[in-house]
Amino acid sequence: MSTRPADGASAVLEIDLGAILANWRSLAARHPAGAVAGVVKADAYGLGAKEVAPALYAAGCRHFFTAHLEEALALRPLVPGAMLGVLNGLLAGTEHCYRAHAITPVLGSLGEIALWRAEATRAGTALEAILHIDTGMSRLGLTDTDVAALAADSSLLEGIALRYVMTHLVSAECQGDPLNERQRERFDALAARLPPAPRSVANSSGIFLGPRFASDLARPGAALYGINPTPGRPNPMRPVVKLIACVLAVRAVRPGESVGYNATWRAVRPSRIATIAVGYADGWPRGLSNRGAAFFDGGRLPLVGRVSMDLTTYDATERPALATGDWLELIGPAQPLAAVAEAAGTNEYEILTALGRRYQRVVIGA
Ligand SMILES: *Cc1c(COP(=O)(O)O)cnc(C)c1O
Repeated sequence: MSTRPADGASAVLEIDLGAILANWRSLAARHPAGAVAGVVKADAYGLGAKEVAPALYAAGCRHFFTAHLEEALALRPLVPGAMLGVLNGLLAGTEHCYRAHAITPVLGSLGEIALWRAEATRAGTALEAILHIDTGMSRLGLTDTDVAALAADSSLLEGIALRYVMTHLVSAECQGDPLNERQRERFDALAARLPPAPRSVANSSGIFLGPRFASDLARPGAALYGINPTPGRPNPMRPVVKLIACVLAVRAVRPGESVGYNATWRAVRPSRIATIAVGYADGWPRGLSNRGAAFFDGGRLPLVGRVSMDLTTYDATERPALATGDWLELIGPAQPLAAVAEAAGTNEYEILTALGRRYQRVVIGA
């Protein structure tokens, strides 16, 4: 492995900040009609928002999104003057905090709009906000009825400066899904009923749906972190993470002996089992039990037995050279994130955001 782990580390997560910046620039090049934000919620998808956000800012990014107010507060000093939007909406009692720290709420209901309007009245000045229109996700966002109410009574938005009107695509990664076009049309129709404002539509995959889905502000997260925005086609993004783990022990297991909790794997031949210090407490999914793999020197070592909390076991029988102290690749060129997600029966987002806190994190390309 190219990474030189520090003494004592038993697993190293390498995060390539340079690749994140390259990905942001390539998304910006694909979205010339408008700006491109950096979505850094969930600690920048598990990779460290305190490193990622200032790096994107230095590269010219001026719009950021988190999910929670607390996440935005932590980043506020790191991205001075940039828009910092909170996707999950405005909770009653937090209005003053948003205003005091110049954080932009994403308002998704008439109740949230009323809270922000009242804050603007207290402030005696117009306050910026993003309006979120629901066009099919049915989680957050203004409904058709809400938009009709706003259209019928312009006083409801009094004191609110619309920074953007946004919506969120349900199936942007499925290029042929008619839902994409339906959401786009629905958004156009609903946004047209509101006061004129810049628009924000595409997430990562939305940027790849073509110019009809371009808007004043795209909101990619996943693609920045190397997740393939066009599943089923080659990944246009640069990979960002590598995860390697040190072999703690290699032991001989006789035919008939079992490995791990509940003896879900049994040797059928004289076998060599390699154990690493990564388990489900580190976000290595338990669903990989008897399914996943690790790689050593270009060779595949099947994961055998249950993934346990702190340890995982691999069949190294075919790799006689492997010894204690060697390093296995869990995520990297031999085993991309997508392969791990597929083996675990989940998506790349879940693997990334679950990556644990016990890894030695090495940020490169800064
Ligand atoms: C998470 C999120 C995004 C980013 O989506 P990706 O698929 O990660 O690019 C954009 N907009 C909203 C509203 C989100 O919740």
